[in-house]
Amino acid sequence: MAEISRVLVANRGEIALRIIRACHEERLEAVAVYSQADRLSPHVRAAELAVPIGPAPAVDSYLNMGRLIEAARSTGCQAIHPGYGFLSERAPFADAVARAGLVFIGPPAAAIVAMGDKTEARRRMQAAGVPIVPGTTQAVSDAKRARYEATRLGFPVLLKAVAGGGGKGMRLVHEPAELEAAFQAAQGEALRAFGAGDVYVEKYLQRPRHVEIQVLADTHGRVVALGERECSIQRRHQKLIEEAPSVALSPALRRRMSEAATAAAGSVGYVGAGTIEFLLGPGGEFHFLEMNTRLQVEHPVTELVYGVDIVREQLRIAAGKPMRVHAGTLNPRGHAIECRITSEDPFNDFLPATGVLRYLRVPSGPGVRWDGGVEQGNEVTLFYDPLIAKLIVWGDTREIAIQRMRRALRELVIVGLPTSQAFHLRVMEEPTFQRGELDITYLERVGPALLAPEPRAEVVRPLAVVAALLAEEQRAAAVPPPLSDRPTVRPSGWVDAAVREGLRE
Ligand code: ADP
Repeated sequence: MAEISRVLVANRGEIALRIIRACHEERLEAVAVYSQADRLSPHVRAAELAVPIGPAPAVDSYLNMGRLIEAARSTGCQAIHPGYGFLSERAPFADAVARAGLVFIGPPAAAIVAMGDKTEARRRMQAAGVPIVPGTTQAVSDAKRARYEATRLGFPVLLKAVAGGGGKGMRLVHEPAELEAAFQAAQGEALRAFGAGDVYVEKYLQRPRHVEIQVLADTHGRVVALGERECSIQRRHQKLIEEAPSVALSPALRRRMSEAATAAAGSVGYVGAGTIEFLLGPGGEFHFLEMNTRLQVEHPVTELVYGVDIVREQLRIAAGKPMRVHAGTLNPRGHAIECRITSEDPFNDFLPATGVLRYLRVPSGPGVRWDGGVEQGNEVTLFYDPLIAKLIVWGDTREIAIQRMRRALRELVIVGLPTSQAFHLRVMEEPTFQRGELDITYLERVGPALLAPEPRAEVVRPLAVVAALLAEEQRAAAVPPPLSDRPTVRPSGWVDAAVREGLRE
């Protein structure tokens, strides 16, 4: 196995920074890449070297395989970490990296292929004895066939894209009359998103939890499970809040799900970090949903309760070293929660927003972790996904973690564009969330009431800061400009006073 001393980080935002930090802790050098839109992003400065890879649109930069491999070669990297999203689950990229004589920090391309095709993954899981969601294990040829299968399974059903991901090409069908149109819609969406329109049918499970198991596998034949993450708080099948452990799992159920997950990973010759997603019913019955063959956004909650640095383990595994994690010693300690802070307006149907981060105050203090990808002065555009940062907390108990998250969310000040901050704060204060009564319909059921009242202090507070900043700028304009050639906006004591003012509810 090649000696690795320098890693190309083929990603942007918070995850690029996260990987660069892990490289440095492993005594590796990191090379960042950046599009024109990201030239001022913090990940660019955090790395030893940074290579421009093209204009803002991802297809011209972060998805450009040739440029990324060339960037790695020209800077003397031995390995490429793809992060999540972009090229992380594209087998041709993993292949191309290997052909260029570089190490792909992820599983073998064959494992990506096997798990990337949802019906093949379902067949493989069935063969490995892992329970799957009832449904077809082959694509259905037409709406008539889909209707036959749906009737056999019983409505409601989900039509899903075989090549699916990100909730695309998925349609919920309540009754036979809706099937034809839903089939066409799912097929069309899948074709546009993945270049393949194949669709299959799954039984739609009523109010399950989304619970997933983190696995790590090394090249020395060991596969371990790092417990579960509860990811039931979703909007349009996209996760918003994650926690570990799940209140729904007893140690015995955790063991059973972990065994299923390691069997699943083992059956495709998995290497590296991966996640097996399950839907969990109220009686403890669980069904394989899919495997993500990469690092996941929500990996930090597992890191906090297991005391494991998953990215550092990825780097070790890629270098052919045995992982430092030992199955026998793995027990979750305390409770961790993650809120995805996105540039979306929760009071306007989570409409993605753009703008300059005029002011950013990051929470800190005991048990608080901020995995951010932007800093004050950066512009948030529509070119990439809306994740600004992940706010993660740890506490001895779930209740302490919730209180800590409330405290941290109230410390956070973002001025310049709407974010999901207020939404998270309201969830932390919502009684059924506090009781842990979660399932994947949580947001549908609770969201409208939660977000119905007008924005209150959580939003008013940043507005107070904006007012203060404007007043500050006006005052600054009246005095000679500072010696620096770049205009900066410095919060003054006056601004802090406004922040305190806004905090008064
Ligand atoms: P994608 O790969 O597009 O993200 P997944 O198969 O991972 O799609 O499903 C995403 C989410 O959709 C799940 O977390 C769950 O909330 C919901 N979902 C998927 N399949 C089912 C099902 N059979 N029954 C109920 N909900 C489902």
